[in-house]
Amino acid sequence: MPKSRKITNDWPYAPAPEAAKIAKVAKRYDHFINGKWTAPKSGEYFKTTNPANNRKLSEVADGNEADVDAAVKAARAAYEGSWGKMSARERGKYVYRIARLMQERAREFAIIETLDGGKSIRESRDIDVPLAANHFFYNAGWADKLDYAFPNRKPKALGVAGQVIPWNFPLLMAAWKIAPALATGNTVVLKPAETTPLTALKLAEIIEDSGLPDGVVNIVTGAGETGAAVVNHPDVNKVAFTGSTAVGKLIQKSVAGSDKRVTLELGGKAANIILEDAAIDQAVEGIVNGIYFNQGHVCCAGSRLFVQESVFDEVMWKLKRRMETLIVGDPLDKNTDIGAINSREQLKTIQKHLKAGVEDGAEMFQPKCDLPSSGNWCPPTVFTNVAQSSRIAQEEIFGPVLAVQTFRTVPEAIEKANNTPYGLSAGVWCDKGARLFQLTGALDAGVVWGNTYNQFDPTSPFGGFKESGFGREGGLHGLAAYLEL
Ligand code: NAD
Ligand code: MN
Repeated sequence: MPKSRKITNDWPYAPAPEAAKIAKVAKRYDHFINGKWTAPKSGEYFKTTNPANNRKLSEVADGNEADVDAAVKAARAAYEGSWGKMSARERGKYVYRIARLMQERAREFAIIETLDGGKSIRESRDIDVPLAANHFFYNAGWADKLDYAFPNRKPKALGVAGQVIPWNFPLLMAAWKIAPALATGNTVVLKPAETTPLTALKLAEIIEDSGLPDGVVNIVTGAGETGAAVVNHPDVNKVAFTGSTAVGKLIQKSVAGSDKRVTLELGGKAANIILEDAAIDQAVEGIVNGIYFNQGHVCCAGSRLFVQESVFDEVMWKLKRRMETLIVGDPLDKNTDIGAINSREQLKTIQKHLKAGVEDGAEMFQPKCDLPSSGNWCPPTVFTNVAQSSRIAQEEIFGPVLAVQTFRTVPEAIEKANNTPYGLSAGVWCDKGARLFQLTGALDAGVVWGNTYNQFDPTSPFGGFKESGFGREGGLHGLAAYLEL
């Protein structure tokens, strides 16, 4: 390999910031319950900040059990009234209308997602918002065709769905949850994450504009206790949760013995595996996309890399060279590759893991980046010489941090890749189709990408094994999770 891998940034890109002004963020948001903006019973609000500068963006209602109870009652009344009595065909029209309104306001959604959560505007504009709209379009199409989706069954809605979502894909996770629930005739109480409530509240605004009957979708904001109130409410028929494995375990315990249906989408520690015959440039791009994309705030992020020994030097040389070109900074700038870390807490967690990696004897590399002076930032990081037992190889970091290990044979790669409590996703890079299928079959992962990474589609089911949870979202599996068949 050539000795120097330095890329001089003599011609940096000129700033290309998106116009934050076009997005309307109110000073304060109430809950959206029964079609009305409703003040919290406690009178309490909490702030949501922009992680790129830690300044307050807005404040939102802090929901308690009484607020959640009002939301569940509204959802129940809508299920037994307007929504339950409507023909499936009419229901589908509303879901289409929400999808179209979302497209019309895509730019505003993208900007608010980036302001509230810190992800790069390229990401929210090209991935989060269009995919969210596509989930509504896809599910809308099924609304009056459920008898064809599940032939020889009698698909029937479950009732009220209580849904709790995380901060890494705030609008997209809301869409994954709300769209199939509505298309199958259920009603919804959704609680967004406390650091990123704004796009779910914007979604409530377009739901209002769509004329959806009152109470069909209710949005209650708050932190963990509000989420627990949604999950534990006795009149909720179905619980859909995406978040950490720790909270997932709590939820599973609390619903045990009830007849609530549950799906849990939890953490991950995905392996990306490069075999010696892989197209290395393409693989390196996929690795960068898999772990540095969205600051590594991705449950299915390719956070572990396994490289066949014979190509290790080449892969590492190319990877480090590519990392040096990544732009970290203002999430609203269209050139930015890596935006802000979602919260101070998350940044602390990541930094704790960086320290653990070094303590456990791994070698850390970070390209030189000029980080902004305020806000939460982490440069792209890669660890080599990582022991299988090291904390960075075992624990979910949820940041732009990659742990690299090597292998000699395919069985060794499989054994190492499967040696984690998680089983959400994996990636395989190799030239031979037969080898690829050998590996995809042997990996304990709900999703395995071949010669690509982080590809999502509403028609395709997504979900994990082991401690990554159970149940699937997306595709027909995602609809089935909201139906009695
Ligand atoms: P988290 O579990 O702390 O929070 C997720 C949501 O649950 C938030 O809305 C939170 O307020 C709520 N919550 C917290 N305590 C609760 C309780 N006791 N009862 C009910 N709700 C409660 O997770 P996070 O830190 O926001 O998100 C990151 C985690 O989510 C990571 O572990 C990541 O892997 C996982 N995740 C998984 C997927 C997936 O599809 N598998 C997708 C995105 C994120
Ligand atoms: Mn925020």
